[in-house]
Amino acid sequence: MLKRIKSLILKSIPPGVHSAARPVYKWLYSLYYAGTRHRCPSCGIYLRKFIPDGILYPIFPDIVGARWHPKGRCPRCDTMPRHRLMHLFIRNKTSLFNDKTQRVNVLQFAPEYSTIRLMRKYGHIKYFSADLYSKFAEYKMDILDIKFETGFFDAILCQHVLEHIEDDLKAMKELFRVLKPGGWAILQVPIRETAKTFENPAYKTPEDRFRFYGQSDHVRIYGWDYKERLESAGFKVNVIDYPKELGPKAVEKCGLDKDEKIYFCVKTL
Ligand SMILES: [Zn+2]
Repeated sequence: MLKRIKSLILKSIPPGVHSAARPVYKWLYSLYYAGTRHRCPSCGIYLRKFIPDGILYPIFPDIVGARWHPKGRCPRCDTMPRHRLMHLFIRNKTSLFNDKTQRVNVLQFAPEYSTIRLMRKYGHIKYFSADLYSKFAEYKMDILDIKFETGFFDAILCQHVLEHIEDDLKAMKELFRVLKPGGWAILQVPIRETAKTFENPAYKTPEDRFRFYGQSDHVRIYGWDYKERLESAGFKVNVIDYPKELGPKAVEKCGLDKDEKIYFCVKTL
């Protein structure tokens, strides 16, 4: 039934205007989910349910950040729990949206629709999106060789990129380099905090990587030492249990993963 509604909406839009019409069809699509039980903190819509979504890791169901979640995707803005948590954190715990007196440069690797939409609401934010593959990225750029000058960005957002990068320390150092002294970065990865980071350079094929890391294009599973790895690149790292701080009612209302923590990384002055 739902697939038919989505298909009918998509078929009603002439080819070539999908991108421009996206907000309209996403709004129409989200009507099916309208209700009062939940509220997406990223787009503000009230919902009776989020769409169950995420990855069913066959051997590591305790990997937080990308695992399947019954309150997965927002039908309107496509956020997953990890995006909603990051948006709430930025809004409530940083001055990025509130302090409009200064123009700030924000870089996002692996940009997605919801964050782009959010950032463009604020005139004082100069938002840059970068990625090697994403269709949303403004700059086609390798995280191992960021084409911006040292200390250019006030804030950096990078969700679920580092687990794809073999030389992740080099990537972390590049992110650290382009951050301003006093600036901050939110660097999220799928993580299993009950064990140490697991990686083996011998696992090179998609089959091996799927078998041992749970996804065919991942090169490791981060563990409790992820904080230390970030610190070795120069960051001061605060691991913040923000769902706990928000409390169970907000976690339920906003469709968050109660186990996900924010890795808030600062380049000290
Ligand atoms: Zn939303």
